[in-house]
Amino acid sequence: MPEGDTIFRAAHTLNRALAGRLVTRFESVFPALTRVADDDPIVGRTVRSVRSQGKHLLMALSGGLTLRTHMRMNGSWHIYRPGEKWQRPVRDMRVLVGTDDFVAVGFNVPVAEFLTDRELARHRQLRALGPDLLDAAFDPDAARTRVRAHGRDAIGDALLNQRAVAGIGNVFKSEILFVAGIDPFRRVDAMTDEDLARVIDVAQNLLQGNVLSREQTLSSAIGRRTTRSLDPNEKLWVYARGGKPCRRCGTLIESRKTGIDARLTYWCPRCQS
Ligand SMILES: [Zn+2]
Repeated sequence: MPEGDTIFRAAHTLNRALAGRLVTRFESVFPALTRVADDDPIVGRTVRSVRSQGKHLLMALSGGLTLRTHMRMNGSWHIYRPGEKWQRPVRDMRVLVGTDDFVAVGFNVPVAEFLTDRELARHRQLRALGPDLLDAAFDPDAARTRVRAHGRDAIGDALLNQRAVAGIGNVFKSEILFVAGIDPFRRVDAMTDEDLARVIDVAQNLLQGNVLSREQTLSSAIGRRTTRSLDPNEKLWVYARGGKPCRRCGTLIESRKTGIDARLTYWCPRCQS
């Protein structure tokens, strides 16, 4: 699943390519989108900005319309020069926004809709998001309070809850808790404020560090790293390393399926006891 840093970088790259440019081409396989475009053309509008909010990508167009997309598990945005060969099959295209210089293609994007300014301001999912770890105005105390509100949940689950704090996906969940030295199955209400503050501090550092280090990359896990190692084989501490020795203490990394969609959690039973 794409994480907040991936969406943030995608928005940043799309913004650089498209902001201020006239839309010369718009296509989608979603009837709800093409219906809006038929009534009120997208071609001829200017892209005002592209930004992320949690894992939502928001492309604001002139005339008070915003294209909201959400990547869920498999969606991704690519950017190409006109005529350049796509890296994904045409059948995976869900939405396309083109200018004279670039073509932005949303592949397998499962959620896409146009929102008026009013709808954007009232959007339930966007309003429900917790503080965004990649927002310049991120407030760690507010995030801690919101995570605290999920006291009966395991901290690993609470970190994935976008209403508590926005931007963490499954890779970062495991990595953050390793770096913070916290057992992912520990209940939030069994944690001290200091522990919780440390987790949030680590989360902010890891996500922001990944945005700063490779803002060009649009694909998901490629290049993400949480260790300081320059060896490309040593980028992550625990994620996807079940049964391998912990990079810190040598204990074998454990993994377990959790949650409704059975995502894997990875941890070191010694470093995170
Ligand atoms: Zn360890």
